[in-house]
Amino acid sequence: MKFISTRGQTPALGFSDAVATGLAPDGGLYLPESLPAISSADLARWEKLGYADLCFEFMRIFATDIPVEELRAIVAKSYTRFSHPEIAPLRRLDARTHVLELFHGPTLAFKDFALQLLGNLYERQCRVRRESINVLGATSGDTGAAAIHGLLGKPGTGIFILFPDGRVSPLQERQMACTGVDNVFALAVDGTFDDAQAALKEVFGDQAFRTGHRLSAVNSINLARVLPQCVYYLYAWLRLPASERGNVEFVVPTGNFGNVCAGWLLQQMGVPIAGFKVATNQNDILHRLFTTGEYRVGDVHPSLAPSMDIQVSSNFERFLYYSLGCNQARVREVMQTFKATGGYTFENFDRGSFSSSRCTDGEIQGIIGRVYREHGYVVDPHTACGFKELNPDRISVVLATAHPAKFPDAIRAATGVESTHPALEALKSLPIVKYRIKATPTAIRTFIDQHAV
Ligand SMILES: *Cc1c(COP(=O)(O)O)cnc(C)c1O
Repeated sequence: MKFISTRGQTPALGFSDAVATGLAPDGGLYLPESLPAISSADLARWEKLGYADLCFEFMRIFATDIPVEELRAIVAKSYTRFSHPEIAPLRRLDARTHVLELFHGPTLAFKDFALQLLGNLYERQCRVRRESINVLGATSGDTGAAAIHGLLGKPGTGIFILFPDGRVSPLQERQMACTGVDNVFALAVDGTFDDAQAALKEVFGDQAFRTGHRLSAVNSINLARVLPQCVYYLYAWLRLPASERGNVEFVVPTGNFGNVCAGWLLQQMGVPIAGFKVATNQNDILHRLFTTGEYRVGDVHPSLAPSMDIQVSSNFERFLYYSLGCNQARVREVMQTFKATGGYTFENFDRGSFSSSRCTDGEIQGIIGRVYREHGYVVDPHTACGFKELNPDRISVVLATAHPAKFPDAIRAATGVESTHPALEALKSLPIVKYRIKATPTAIRTFIDQHAV
């Protein structure tokens, strides 16, 4: 299978090359040349598979350039570090509501589902090409931790993650800085996340430096971030009683539109999912889009659900491509207008099977308390956004994107419960190894020159 750019001005690539490239050279995002169709016979055949086997069956449709048995082994290995036997357990709260727990991976957030696999794909790439790779990224929390744990100790890889010093949660910092592994560099930047991001952009813009160190970006636009995320929707759908499957709405706490985009792609491939609810926090660009048809950036306001504090949803372009009838010239036009004016208004916007909601910090607190009282179940602040207003006419599957123990203060304030997790407790006694650096391209380049593999 080949992968094309949403902007159509660069050649199509095979799976491994599209993954290694990340952002397409024309500024677009990679997508399958045409979406495969998943039939009811496929669904019947997959019904009894465990998580890793299902993931393999799904990924082999796309990763056709990796020998089948090698792919099977890579996928199997990617889900060995999850602490729950079901990997993504579906838990029923009441007759109309399920929670899909996506927080049993090594960093206790859903990003592990893609980044564990991406780490193993990078490792294979290094082996096949006999080259090392240096992965570079900036994080406001969960992505950095999940990326680090995807590449932990992998031969031929170095990983450099910039984070704003003092502005990620202490537990998130420990997940990045207490690994004790020498291919990991947690870089505490003196400045904000935006400062780190801007400096990083310049480093990536330096072509000679970029190719010299074989730099690769970990960010949510990579094809290998999206496709593995389709699998837990499929897994959950197959675990629902047959009587509920046709009426299910997945409720997805989102910021970058990455997670919900994966579910939506699966629906486009033919899996009969009734709808999706895009659940935002107070940073509500997506909620505004789905209610008004206007896609416009606003200022980012830090919230209790920090991994959704985003105002430009980078994966939105994938949805846009299909919404515009796969017309790449139109995608370029819309993205150009958006870049130049900070917004785009769609005429006759068709929201399809999407609905949306927005949740303030006050509402998040209230919801954590209410869900705990009603169901004896503790949700983290991101997941709480999903519970804003469930559709009474549908069966809701709310995606639980992080373990509550990652946010003990918010949980304590809302419920009085001390939320803990052994993986996080273990981190508390380990030494923190972080490197303080200035948020300048020069400082970053110097550090990489000294430490790259
Ligand atoms: C990253 C993250 C999100 C948002 O993910 P999207 O890809 O933007 O949908 C939500 N919750 C948690 C806990 C996250 O780490």
